[in-house]
Amino acid sequence: MGKTVFEKSSSGRRAFTLPPNDCPLEGLKQLITRKGPVGLPEIGEQDLVRHYIELAGKNYHIDKGMYPLGSCTMKYNPLINEELAGLGGFTGLHPDQDVGDVQGALELMHGLERALSEICGMGAFTLQPAAGAHGEFTGMLIARDYFLGRGEKRKVIVVPDSAHGTNPASVAICGFTPKTIQSNELGLIDPAILEKEVDGETAVLMLTLPNTLGLFEREIAEVVRIVHDAGALVYMDGANMNALLGIVRPGDIGIDIMHVNLHKTFSTPHGGGGPGSGPVGVNAELADFLPIPRVIKEDTGYILSCDSDKTVGRIHSYFGNFNVLVKAYAYIQTLGARGLKQVAMDSILNANYLMNRLEGTYSLKYPGPCMHEFVLSARNLKKNGVRTSDVAKRLLDYGLHAPTVYFPLIVEEALMIEPVETESRETLDAFAEVMERIAQEAKESPELLTEAPRHTPVRRLDEAAASRNPDLQWRPEEK
Ligand SMILES: *Cc1c(COP(=O)(O)O)cnc(C)c1O
Repeated sequence: MGKTVFEKSSSGRRAFTLPPNDCPLEGLKQLITRKGPVGLPEIGEQDLVRHYIELAGKNYHIDKGMYPLGSCTMKYNPLINEELAGLGGFTGLHPDQDVGDVQGALELMHGLERALSEICGMGAFTLQPAAGAHGEFTGMLIARDYFLGRGEKRKVIVVPDSAHGTNPASVAICGFTPKTIQSNELGLIDPAILEKEVDGETAVLMLTLPNTLGLFEREIAEVVRIVHDAGALVYMDGANMNALLGIVRPGDIGIDIMHVNLHKTFSTPHGGGGPGSGPVGVNAELADFLPIPRVIKEDTGYILSCDSDKTVGRIHSYFGNFNVLVKAYAYIQTLGARGLKQVAMDSILNANYLMNRLEGTYSLKYPGPCMHEFVLSARNLKKNGVRTSDVAKRLLDYGLHAPTVYFPLIVEEALMIEPVETESRETLDAFAEVMERIAQEAKESPELLTEAPRHTPVRRLDEAAASRNPDLQWRPEEK
């Protein structure tokens, strides 16, 4: 393993030259003089550059290889969108600028809201939530205020066991009580079960579509009818809209509130904790509940309106993560209706291709066809003493990123694979070959898996100790 930058430090080396200080220090000295050295590494500029280039080379990212992380849509995001978001006219804006000076930015936001409303068949959108989970939170606030306004005390939110993990969490944060319902043997919501669980206490059915098994709810029309008949709302977690673009408009099937993830479906790279965006769409009847300020188009131009007594209020400073909105708008405008539909078709085709190729080698609890992803199980390898985590670690030895593992919880030893729409057939084949080889290794020499990874900068980490006992302190004296 390479040395840390502290270990490369050599006294007196510098990566910078500053002009001599010409500011009189008298009087200040007392205030600004340090008690001792800060302990920063001392290193020359070239060695510093090499150090970070070497580290960057060890990083794994979507521009290096396939990233089949289920539910995350780790796809190629066209670089042109980054260029556009980086234009000075956008990056130089100040959110407190006069509305008259930022008409272009408001037009873009208004256009994106209209485009998302059209794509999803919803009445209106807010662009403010900063992430998918933040969108869920906003959606739950809207549902809460809607029922408060009607004087109805509905406390329960029904969440299928195939929903994304953030769903029950958002429900709880907003003071609702999540109630789990079990999927049937096809991995889908069973209308008969749902009918028994939904009543006058139910505020919302919160479903993930496609669900976390990568399946479309075939009974969705009946599901929506049952919920609406009980006077409740249907919330759709649309973080994986890349499976539905141009094929299904949630509003058309009766969804009342939903969110999308711009940093998944609409071209913002993610995974490193950078800014995201989880716009929320509502049916026309709920539009007044959306957060303020809202961008409104008037004859004289665009204005920001806080004029609503039903609004859930502000949920983000200013307007959300604006530069993510620019990328999404550019992506939608470049692809157009036909291109967006192709995105969904390709994501479905790629997932089904890979699923069909791998379903004999690993077990598949819920048969397809799938949408954008599918969930395999490494259950059949257990007899060799091998688990899903071993398969995941062995993939690293082959220079590949592992799929999402141990989720959803309803599949034992789960491997949740989303190949995404931008991967070529050659890349999918190469991934499948490695997965097949690993299954073979599990039978012939399982230690290759249980001792993996062998070829990464660090070998297998004790993950439990790292999270229970984090040691985040740098102690220079111990080097
Ligand atoms: C990613 C994802 C979320 C959460 O989105 P964040 O932006 O990470 O908060 C919620 N639901 C589904 C289905 C997802 O795939």
